[in-house]
Amino acid sequence: MSDDAFDYAALFRGAPVGSVVTGEGDVILQVNDAFLAWTGRRREELVGTSLLRLIPVGDRILFATRVAPLLGLAGRVRDVALTVFDHQRVPLAAWLAASRIESTPPITAYAIGPRRERSIEEAALIGAVHRAELSDARRLDAELTLEQAAAEDSLTGLLNRAGLLSEVRGILEARPAVGEVWLGMLGLDHFRVVNESLGGDAGDEVLRTVAQRLREQLGEQVSIARVGDDEFAVARGGEAGIEGFADEIVRAVARPMVVADLEVVVTASLGAVEVWSGDPRAGFPGTDAESLLRNAATAMHEAKAAGRNRWKPYIAGTAEDDRAIDELRLLGEIRSALAGDELRLEYQPQLDLATGGLHGFEALIRWSHPERGEISPAGFIGVAEKSGLISQLGSWACRTAILLCAELNDAPGSRPVRMAVNISARQFGDAQFAGSIAELLAASGLEPSLLTLEITETGLITDPVAAATNLARLHELGVRLSIDDFGTGHAGFAYLKDFPIDELKIDRSFVSGLADSADDTAIVESCIRLAAAMGIGVVAEGVETAEQQALLGELGCDVVQGFHYSRPLDTRAVRERVAADGATVEPR
Ligand code: C2E
Ligand code: CA
Ligand code: CA
Repeated sequence: MSDDAFDYAALFRGAPVGSVVTGEGDVILQVNDAFLAWTGRRREELVGTSLLRLIPVGDRILFATRVAPLLGLAGRVRDVALTVFDHQRVPLAAWLAASRIESTPPITAYAIGPRRERSIEEAALIGAVHRAELSDARRLDAELTLEQAAAEDSLTGLLNRAGLLSEVRGILEARPAVGEVWLGMLGLDHFRVVNESLGGDAGDEVLRTVAQRLREQLGEQVSIARVGDDEFAVARGGEAGIEGFADEIVRAVARPMVVADLEVVVTASLGAVEVWSGDPRAGFPGTDAESLLRNAATAMHEAKAAGRNRWKPYIAGTAEDDRAIDELRLLGEIRSALAGDELRLEYQPQLDLATGGLHGFEALIRWSHPERGEISPAGFIGVAEKSGLISQLGSWACRTAILLCAELNDAPGSRPVRMAVNISARQFGDAQFAGSIAELLAASGLEPSLLTLEITETGLITDPVAAATNLARLHELGVRLSIDDFGTGHAGFAYLKDFPIDELKIDRSFVSGLADSADDTAIVESCIRLAAAMGIGVVAEGVETAEQQALLGELGCDVVQGFHYSRPLDTRAVRERVAADGATVEPR
């Protein structure tokens, strides 16, 4: 039969699997009979409405963060498990695949059908096979020679710590002709979060993938080991320079990987140490394998402290002891900064993108150190978090910001001004936290809905029970909750279902890529769509150019913040800004 004699419309309607075609804005253009029969719905009721209406809110999150961006980037998705409501809103377990069709205008074709839960017999069968495999594996394990078992990491098949140390000793003793040995220690960033949010099996998969990438990247000449839960080491003798490898290693790990059906990005920090002996016959006096590994670890911690996803060479004299002392000293200084008046807050304006009117401010902490000058929060918040001093620092910041916000809103005839305050994970894990905010609000007379608390995804996952308790209490009070640095976490966004969230704050790293990275644009778009699907607000931070502003406007972003509008302001400038805004913008 020739192609044009074929009745495609009849084929679509009668296809044996549920099919739905959508156009712009997920609006359903056509559905086939199998889909109607399965859901008990009528064609007239579906065509012209949004596909998202058929999906419960929780799964819309999945849709907006996985399905939509993947369709945009790769043009297709498959094997997505989700739920679809039938005509009586009874949830049906569904399976979904989709592809984008680049017609004008573009359309998306979905295949959606019932997801079969595993039957009891199947499960039993799979269990039996699994047990047989396990006992096979155990027998194989037992056959491994003792020597092998002692040198190998069973999860990845790489060397283990002992194996690596013995190889490095060998290299040092062999006195390579080129007279150079290098050793790098690689730590995965935030691996604990991967484990906690995706589960231990997924964590193991990540470790195996990283091992595989190291093998591919470095080849056989390099000794590769797993030396800790989430730490790897690489070593080589007789070849100059780790510089040539370091960037590649960091980049290779950071390539997206698919784990537990999710695409995740796991970054790593690398510390490297090199030793060089001018005269190979003399060997490497004063150098042993253990101290090389220790020094590489020190450099790795420095790479983490410098922002992760990078490498640092080891520089003698910045030993771990020194850093511990530095941190202790810093802690003492933060304590006296709190007592004196070295700390202050600055406030960065947030604007309504549509009207250009003032939405509110984000409070950002500042420290003018008597000797060292301005210290950025990145330089001391981490240390304060580790020690618990963050509670005092945090309550000082909350009190100061709430008092100013109350004052700004007290001015006669003023329009409501919001205030956002950054809250660290540790504060959120404190059972007293919500109570202390309630007291501050009562004492200042600030209307609770004008206060927004910004917390990162990590803050919610670290201690979910305490976080949930605090959140419920704060939500009851009417305080707004915003997810800071949204999209930078590693996990899916399942947690969003469990917490009463009012706002997503799209991280600066995505906003800055808006004009030239398709990935970043897709991420920003999906964050905005996700917020819309959940019926909550969305703020883009770090807006620096008119171009970014224009794109955010097109994508439907509500609120913007960044150097394009204003740097953070001191208290006086804030009062002036609010007065000017009240004078120039008509109250709504
Ligand atoms: P954050 O919450 O993501 O804050 C945004 C950071 O981006 C601020 O840096 C801000 O000054 C900067 N920024 C704003 N607009 C732009 C822009 O257009 N371009 C660029 N390049 N940067 C922009 P800052 O003030 O150094 O704060 C760094 C981080 O320190 C904050 O990140 C926040 O996580 C933390 N922090 C600041 N104040 C506090 C506080 O009172 N408590 C806690 N727990 N953390 C705080
Ligand atoms: Ca923030
Ligand atoms: Ca941020």
